[in-house]
Amino acid sequence: MNFKVLALVMIGVMFAFDIVLKYLDVKSTDRETPDNVKDLFNPEEYKTWMAYHKEKCKLSFSRIFVSNIVTLLVIGFDVYALLLGVTGLSDDLYGAAVIVTLLDIIIGMIWSVPYSYIDNMKIEAKYGFNRMTNKTFVVDLVKELIINACVMCGLICLFIVIHQAMGNLLLIVFTAIALLILLAMVFLSPVLTRIFNKLTPLEEGELRDRLTKLLEDNNCTVRQISVTDGSRRSTKANAYFGGFGKMKTIVLYDTLIEQMTEDEIVAVFAHEMGHNKHKDTLKLYCMNIVNISLMVFMAWALVSYPEIYTYFGFDGVNYGFAFILLGSVCMSFVSPIIGLFINALSRKFEYAADKFAAENGYGEALVSGLKKLHKNSFSNLNPHPLLVKMFYNHPTLSERISALTAFMEGENK
Ligand SMILES: [Zn+2]
Repeated sequence: MNFKVLALVMIGVMFAFDIVLKYLDVKSTDRETPDNVKDLFNPEEYKTWMAYHKEKCKLSFSRIFVSNIVTLLVIGFDVYALLLGVTGLSDDLYGAAVIVTLLDIIIGMIWSVPYSYIDNMKIEAKYGFNRMTNKTFVVDLVKELIINACVMCGLICLFIVIHQAMGNLLLIVFTAIALLILLAMVFLSPVLTRIFNKLTPLEEGELRDRLTKLLEDNNCTVRQISVTDGSRRSTKANAYFGGFGKMKTIVLYDTLIEQMTEDEIVAVFAHEMGHNKHKDTLKLYCMNIVNISLMVFMAWALVSYPEIYTYFGFDGVNYGFAFILLGSVCMSFVSPIIGLFINALSRKFEYAADKFAAENGYGEALVSGLKKLHKNSFSNLNPHPLLVKMFYNHPTLSERISALTAFMEGENK
């Protein structure tokens, strides 16, 4: 079997699939807006939303196109093996893997940075969402690059060490280590957030008293209620629970506090507390165990057949390239399928968290809060159902309002 042809065909198939999905996304402007969210935008705002959506779709069309063409060319013409040959490190197992990984990150950056720039600094700015300065954009980029390079090279070297020392036991040992790293990242997320954002404790006052009371009423302890400077990057608002156990921190975006009434903030907070109460982060983490095991299994399968690499210009196994094949070929087939399940579960969690807020008396406030959040971030109010199934980890605004309204009507009977 010619593995290169197989890889190129698989990338081509996913390329076509991505284009179909994007087409459905573009066409969502033709769909009727559901009745319960019709009042969100006035006709003038709706027109602006359509223009925004169109521009975003156009950019993402072009991004999908360029990304796939680059992948096809780079893999098709053995670019990684050729560039590795120039460095003279082809025979060094670790050196060769690190070089290929770094090349992949650099090539990825070269084509994708202009897109992020246009997206954030041009389109988002044009519609008044972007607050990033050029400096923030560059600093974020450099931080991401360094983190990405360290994490990827570190993981791959660890993978080689374990594979060389333990052979097929890698399946168990590396999976266990990867899961521990993921757990540590969830646990330390409040600390990791600080690499990109400032967190300050919520100042004393009525809001903090109400939030603290809600926490106490539900026997929930957190380390801190923090406010993050999301406004440095975007006007879009958010809130979330980060970390586990003693590290647990609630993070509210300063933009959320700016844009919402106190009732609405408490309602969004109550929703987040619902997630916490239902241990949703932990459940999603457990779902990821399946995901990670599958990835390790595929990586193991890829490095178990050295002949694969000869089709791509290498002399033998290149662990860095194995991870590239894993990401751009294997996972691009498997991820959408896993995504269907994880997103379905996540949407179920969202309904349950909304219900929790409503049970605590914040149903109405949550409806108006959610409307504001969606209005202020120019959400798509009528996405294609297939896109919702595949990519939405939250139900649409209309679905959430319907569920909340039905719940509140049921309670009032
Ligand atoms: Zn939620």
